[in-house]
Order: sequence, then C-alpha cells, then structure tokens
Amino acid sequence: MIAEIIAVGSEMLTPDRQDTNSLYITRGLNGLGVSLAFKGIVGDNRQHLTDAIRIALKRVDVVVLSGGLGPTEDDLTRECSAEALGVELYREPELMVALTRRFAERRMTMSANNERQTEVLDGAVVLDNKNGSAPGQWLDTTVDGHRKILILLPGPPKELMPLFDNECLPRLAASLPQRHLARRTLRMALLPESQVDARCAPIYQRFTDIETTILAGNAEITLNFVCTKPTQEEAEQRVNALTELIEHEMGDSIYSSHGESLEEIVQLMLGLRDMTLSVAESCTGGLLAQRITAVPNASRTFAGGAVVYNAQQKTTLAHVPADLIAEHGTVSEPVARALAEGIREVTGSKIGIGITGIAGPSTLDGADEGKPVGLVYVALADGEDTQVKELNIRGDRDRIRYWTTQHALEMLRL
Ligand code: ATP
Ligand code: MG
Repeated sequence: MIAEIIAVGSEMLTPDRQDTNSLYITRGLNGLGVSLAFKGIVGDNRQHLTDAIRIALKRVDVVVLSGGLGPTEDDLTRECSAEALGVELYREPELMVALTRRFAERRMTMSANNERQTEVLDGAVVLDNKNGSAPGQWLDTTVDGHRKILILLPGPPKELMPLFDNECLPRLAASLPQRHLARRTLRMALLPESQVDARCAPIYQRFTDIETTILAGNAEITLNFVCTKPTQEEAEQRVNALTELIEHEMGDSIYSSHGESLEEIVQLMLGLRDMTLSVAESCTGGLLAQRITAVPNASRTFAGGAVVYNAQQKTTLAHVPADLIAEHGTVSEPVARALAEGIREVTGSKIGIGITGIAGPSTLDGADEGKPVGLVYVALADGEDTQVKELNIRGDRDRIRYWTTQHALEMLRL
C-alpha cells in the first residue's frame, strides 16, 4: 500500500507557516509498513484542491488530508473530497446535536456556517474529535475498481494527532492485507561501492517488487533486499531469486548472504576446516586479534599470538631472524612471511598471520624506513606454503589499520 498526504491551507504556501502534520502522519504510516509516494500542500482553492484529491485517488491507495475542516468559507476539504469522488455530502443529525451542545456548553452562539462541520461524505465513518469542533472522516471506498481509503483530519496538530493515532492507525492496520516480509543482507569486503553498484544495479533494478538499498562503510559494502508478498513463501522465493543472480555476478566477493560479519564467517570457515589460527601483528597492534575475539566461541579456532611492535619483539616472540630484518627492513615481504611462519611454529597453530606496515603519519626520524605510509604486508602461512599480500592503503591511521585487518580476514576466508 502506498499513501499520499495533502496538507490543505494557503497559510502554508507563505514563508511563515510550515506543514508539520505530514511528518507526524508519515511516521505513523511508515510504522504500519505503508510508504509515502507523494505529499503536497494545496491552498484553500476549490479547483486546486479538487484536482489534487482526484489525482491522489488515482495514484495511491491511501489519501490523507489535513486541514480545511473548519466552519469558514475557505474550509473546502469536505466539499472538494465529495466532488473528486462523485459522492454526496449529507448533514449528519447526530453531529448537529453534538455541535449544538458544544456551543451551548461554551455559551456561544452557533452561526449557520458551523453547520457545514456536520457534513459527512456518503459512506464515511465519522471520527470523533474530542479536542475541537470539526470531526474527522474515514472513507473506505472504490474508485475505478480499486480500493481507496480517504482520511480527512482537522488541521490543528493537537486535534489531528490524537485523532490520527486513536482512530486512523488501528483502522488502517485492520484494513491492510496480510503481508509477509522477506529480507536478505549480502555483504562484500574491500570492493568500491561504485563497482558493486555498476555490476549489481542492472540486476536488482529488474526486481521492481524488491526494495534494494546499498550501504558503503568500513571497508565493505552491504546490499539489503526487502520484499513483501501475500505469502511468506512468495516473498522468500523472490528474494532468493535476486540473491542467486547477485551471487552469480559477484561470486566469491560475497562473504555473507545472511548478514553475518566477516569475523563470524572467518570463525565459521576455520571451524569447518578444523583449523586453528594465531597472529603476529605489528602495525595493527592487536586489532585483528580484537576483531576475531569479538565473536563468541573464538577460542575454538583462535589460539592467540603477539603484538610485535619493535624489531626485538619480532625476533623474540615470533622468531623472525634479526638479520632478515636488518637486510630488508621491518616493513617488507620477507619479514611478513617470517612473522606468519614464526607465530605458527611458536603457537603450534595450523595457520599463522603476520602483519607489518606503516600506518603513519610518522614524525620519528627513520621510523618509516623511507617507505610510504599505507604500505602494508599481510602474510598467511599454513605449513604448506605462505602467501603474502602487498597493500597500499590510502587514508589516515585508523583507516589503514582497519583495512589491513579486513584484508587479513579476507585472506583467511578464501
Ligand atoms: P479549524 O477548525 O481550526 O479551522 P481546520 O481543520 O479547518 O480547523 P485549518 O484551518 O486548515 O484547519 O488549520 C488550523 C490551524 O492548524 C492552522 O492555522 C495551523 O496553525 C494549523 N495547521 C493546519 N494545517 C497544518 C499542518 N499541515 N501542519 C501544521 N499545522 C497545521
Ligand atoms: Mg480552517
């Protein structure tokens, strides 16, 4: 179901007044899963308002009108709604009694104009307004063979809000067809958003019944699919069909298709392969170990390791030969390799990860060995061979460190 809100009142077409009712109404509609397709403001003009209501009734399922229910000549919402729908307005005797009593209680005389507030659209339910003289109206009707709900609400927010919450939302909830929702979250690490979207958009755009959002952040891209259908089975089927096509397009790049984090997937993969892991981290200072151990039950696959920040600790704790460091420098492929192999031996794990790099910005003399900030080596040793990745990561210290761990996790997953 989609909705349109029309705020009625010329004052909101001036620089002095804002339409805030529509924001309140939108929140309530969205809460029921009804999304807004259009909203607008129309002045107190018979032709303009009738046209606007007619157009809204054509293009959406629920039309909510706010304002223009007062007693004055420029309060036209009732008449224009009747005109747009081609239904009669009639004077509801019970409303007349209530209105007369309301005026009597306040010792006010009722003008002839006030009687306009007793006019009801043929077929509409009258919504009792406890905070004002103009009742709301709810009309559940058919236009050109399609079911339409038209809601008329008084403009003053303190009248509109309770009427909308207490009288409209429950009715709307009861009117909604039983819908079932299926969701899917696909996650990919390290790819640029533009590339993911260029490849995925032509596919997901064909699924017009699935709402797709693409989110980029923290060295990964998330694709979210939401589909609503009359049955759960139909909704799941559609989301699965789209997921399969995206998986086919993106292949191994998708590390999770049910929203799990990269760390969780790595733990799962290591568990399935019955492997244990240890790490020797330099520039990431334990961030990789932190991410891995953030997942419950990490002890099943993670043995531990060392933060080996200076050359001496690389030698002492990860058994990196001192002459290797002297020859190549700490940030080098051979040292990353030796870190991974060394920590693996020391801990007796199946897999060792070694990380060395320059996170910057360096102000200490000679600290970066004349190498550029963002140069990082990540090595993975599994006893048979050792693969080393050379990375050139752009950005600040936090970004370089985080992206390094993301690369390490991707190497572990694949
Ligand atoms: P009344 O009986 O007061 O005339 P009404 O249903 O005719 O009620 P309007 O005359 O359109 O409502 O508006 C009354 C007042 O309510 C406006 O002066 C304004 O302060 C407020 N109002 C109306 N519409 C909105 C809106 N969309 N957002 C915020 N305030 C509104
Ligand atoms: Mg008014």
